[in-house]
Amino acid sequence: MISILCPCYNEEKALPLFIQRITQVISAIPETFEILFVNDGSTDSTLDLLKSYSQQDSRIKVVDFSRNFGKEAALTAALDYAQGDAVIPIDADLQDPPELMADMIAKWHEGYEVVLARRADRSSDSWLKRVTAKMFYKFHNAISNPHIPENVGDFRLMDRAVIEALKGCRESCRFMKGLFAWAGFRSCTLDYRREVRSAGRAKLNGWKLWTLALEGITSFSTAPLTIWLYLGGAISLSAFAYLAYIFMRTVISGVEVPGYASIVCMILFFGGLNLVGIGLIGQYLGRTYIESKRRPVYIVRKVYGDNSEA
Ligand code: UDP
Ligand code: MG
Repeated sequence: MISILCPCYNEEKALPLFIQRITQVISAIPETFEILFVNDGSTDSTLDLLKSYSQQDSRIKVVDFSRNFGKEAALTAALDYAQGDAVIPIDADLQDPPELMADMIAKWHEGYEVVLARRADRSSDSWLKRVTAKMFYKFHNAISNPHIPENVGDFRLMDRAVIEALKGCRESCRFMKGLFAWAGFRSCTLDYRREVRSAGRAKLNGWKLWTLALEGITSFSTAPLTIWLYLGGAISLSAFAYLAYIFMRTVISGVEVPGYASIVCMILFFGGLNLVGIGLIGQYLGRTYIESKRRPVYIVRKVYGDNSEA
């Protein structure tokens, strides 16, 4: 069986189109399917829609969250509740073409445990989103191990073995793309064209994406912490050289009073540098604090269309 995982947050406009297209696609594939929706605290009629779908179709299951926990938490829950031998997370807005699933499943039968779907054509995304995404991948991969494949989202196929490995990662600060890459396994890549959103508005705005990027970098690299060691060392060394220079100059040509501007500049420069350094340490400290509480990643209100709990 294959589990299709779909996190939904206020998707009442996109869902009817999604259900129509996905049922069409899976009826043409000779496999059994379950479609697992996670209602991530929607405030519109998403839950009512999902409930009625699950009554009409026994393959459709719904996990209802007690509030909005974010897409990463919704995906985590979907992985926990999925019962398939392979899973395919997919967005509700049809930006990921369900038609690609047939090829993914074929690759899976060839023996690949992870089948990635790469956005070969991102022209449906805004210029700013493309540029910032590119910068993120460059920066992240320069300082983190393992690398996350560029332009690959959550839309992919993963074997049961991968899911079991991921279930072992219970950190609260979750960057799913990074965790997926961290798990490893044998993978191959398929290319696809990223469509525009079918209906409704995008939920992940600029600020949420920035927070997610920060999460990704701090979750998988401590290079931003280490850098201060070298930066501090370099600055101390040059300060020492400058000190020696001032000392020699004073010995040779006596005391000079002017220098107010340069002192103010230096105070501001190093004050700023200190604050950035402390802020960065704070980022890591804050995450350590959150992790130390060991709170659950999400809270489920109710599960519809399925008797077996995860
Ligand atoms: N989503 C979610 N919780 C959130 C935000 C988004 O479950 O807090 C879901 C959303 O319903 C959609 C998917 O995540 O199915 C991707 O969201 P969106 O299309 O807004 O993101 P983008 O395509 O812009 O990355
Ligand atoms: Mg989208």
